[in-house]
Amino acid sequence: MSLLLPRLESQWPRIGIMGGTFDPIHIGHLVTAEEAREHFNLESVIFVPAGLPSHKIEKKVTDPEHRYLMTFLAVTNNPYFSISRVEIDSLEPSYTVNTVRFFQKIYDYKVSIYFITGADAILDILTWKDYEELLEKCIFIAASRSGYSLEKLKDKVEPFYPSIFQKVHLMEIPAMAISSTFIRRRVREGKTIKYLTPEAVEQYIYKSELYQEEAEKSQ
Ligand code: NAP
Repeated sequence: MSLLLPRLESQWPRIGIMGGTFDPIHIGHLVTAEEAREHFNLESVIFVPAGLPSHKIEKKVTDPEHRYLMTFLAVTNNPYFSISRVEIDSLEPSYTVNTVRFFQKIYDYKVSIYFITGADAILDILTWKDYEELLEKCIFIAASRSGYSLEKLKDKVEPFYPSIFQKVHLMEIPAMAISSTFIRRRVREGKTIKYLTPEAVEQYIYKSELYQEEAEKSQ
């Protein structure tokens, strides 16, 4: 007879939630997720494209279904990666705290959540809905481009949330020199985007005629 002992909190599965607008997804995002998975020993990384980003309500963002499909195409050949429609299908603006609550419930509250996103996004964390609860519920992995300075987080967040560096890990990802803005601009200018995003995403962008003519979108 085997005796099943309850798992201690430190033994709970660690999952990564990769949050972003992904307009479009690119190699920098994929390298970030894979690096985070390996470095933090995550069981899997769930990509969660933002539906209606709460901070971009006034701004123009590509249709969520296009962003979802591009993200799907990009993650499909990595067995550790998956994608969730939780924010895409919500009729409400996307708030990370709601997404984290959703996944905690899915895992019956026996999970350690690592929220992976861009370091610049984290700089504004004190303006996010229920940020204290969020910082209590998960560890943040902030992906930065080369040369990003910790000073920004120190100046902007630490004075108001002194334990911020216990909750946020900065991860330097040289491939994040690529940005969604850069890709959109190149498409509009008729320049190649080969190798900046997976080939399937590149094909999808051309087939769906995305990013052809509009004015520069928000970051
Ligand atoms: P953003 O402000 O468009 O991006 C800021 C920077 O972070 C950009 O350089 C961006 O590069 C990079 N970035 C974004 N997502 C990334 C990722 N997953 N991995 C690596 N770099 C990433 O950020 P956003 O995409 O709108 O928002 C990021 C996440 O924060 C989303 O999940 C969003 O829902 C969440 N968020 C929540 C709240 C809230 O709850 N109130 C408020 C703001 C943001 P690219 O442009 O190349 O991606």
